[in-house]
Amino acid sequence: QLSPTRRAFGVYIGRFEPPHLAHQAVMREALEQVDTLILVIGSARAARTTKNPFTAQEREALIRAMLTEAGVDPARLRFVAVRDHLYDEGRWLAEVRSGVQAHTGGSADVALIGHIKDGSSYYLRSFPDWDFLPTHVISGLSATAVRRALFERRLHDLGGMVPPAVEAFLREFYPSADSAALRAEYEHLLACQAALDPARTPPIAVTAHAAVTRAGRVLLLRRGVHPGQGNLALPGRELLPDETLVACAARAAQLDTGLDVREFMGADATSTGLHAAWLAGQVFDAPDRSPRGRVVAHAFPFNLGSGPLPDLRPGGDAAQALWLPVPEALGSPELFFEDHHAILEELLARA
Ligand code: NAD
Repeated sequence: QLSPTRRAFGVYIGRFEPPHLAHQAVMREALEQVDTLILVIGSARAARTTKNPFTAQEREALIRAMLTEAGVDPARLRFVAVRDHLYDEGRWLAEVRSGVQAHTGGSADVALIGHIKDGSSYYLRSFPDWDFLPTHVISGLSATAVRRALFERRLHDLGGMVPPAVEAFLREFYPSADSAALRAEYEHLLACQAALDPARTPPIAVTAHAAVTRAGRVLLLRRGVHPGQGNLALPGRELLPDETLVACAARAAQLDTGLDVREFMGADATSTGLHAAWLAGQVFDAPDRSPRGRVVAHAFPFNLGSGPLPDLRPGGDAAQALWLPVPEALGSPELFFEDHHAILEELLARA
């Protein structure tokens, strides 16, 4: 919901590679509701790539220039550059917070601006103490399309996607050695994709499994289908192209048993809550572990503490979902599907 009151500070997080007309519109809308806009520039201090072609300093200069030419007083802008910490979400959150605090002096009058466009915007939920101001800007524009135009030598397309100050910068950047190297890399990557021959790639499946425990019991399912009909198994799924293994394991638990592990992990479940499970995860890669073919399994322990056991609802290949006492599960290897008992032993017996 839009806040009726004006805020002292707004925070807008993005990669801005490069900033485009929709980013500019979001920033201008935000500046109608906040006195000072703090722009957090992500993916800082990384080598130039076709996905992140510009330094944080270049992106800061571009944002400053495009807002100044739109009539914004640059004194109302602050900038924070933050590195990515792909495997340490807590560190990323802490660096965003401390960077913002350096400008707010610890004021609580802070609103987070953004647009929850897809799974990659999950981080907008990671700052529950800041009010969320959803943007009303609706546009199909993406920085990916701008970069594509740049690397595919379609400079005439830039004007419709980026403000004049950004277009001028991109036209100046285009003949540089950095730009030529990125264009060569872009073409190389396109050639790699074209050369991918699925028929020659050996079929190796990757799966993720959840070993969920609560109050001394482990969450299992009884398989209702071949192979292993009637066996006990850990919830599991094949990895989707756009998800992490630990998110796949959480999805599997929900689909197979109806249990959403995220509900037990607080507001940060999509990030820091899953991190502990990720740290404790293990790989199970015996080449013949599955008669169905080569399947590399990753399994993650989700410890949900104590308390009442949530009701379960079997789904997928599960005929039944159940909470079995851990000692009973560890003591009954003959009941288990494939190597799932061995996985449980590794994850639980040694914990
Ligand atoms: P982005 O530049 O794609 O988008 C910035 C903002 O603009 C987002 O709120 C986005 O939803 C909005 N936006 C984009 N196009 C829009 C359009 N057409 N209309 C309206 N709004 C639009 O940036 P991003 O990828 O969301 O940036 C997040 C940054 O934070 C990245 O640098 C990312 O790497 C970083 N990050 C890092 C970690 C970590 O390292 N652990 C975790 C989360 C985020």
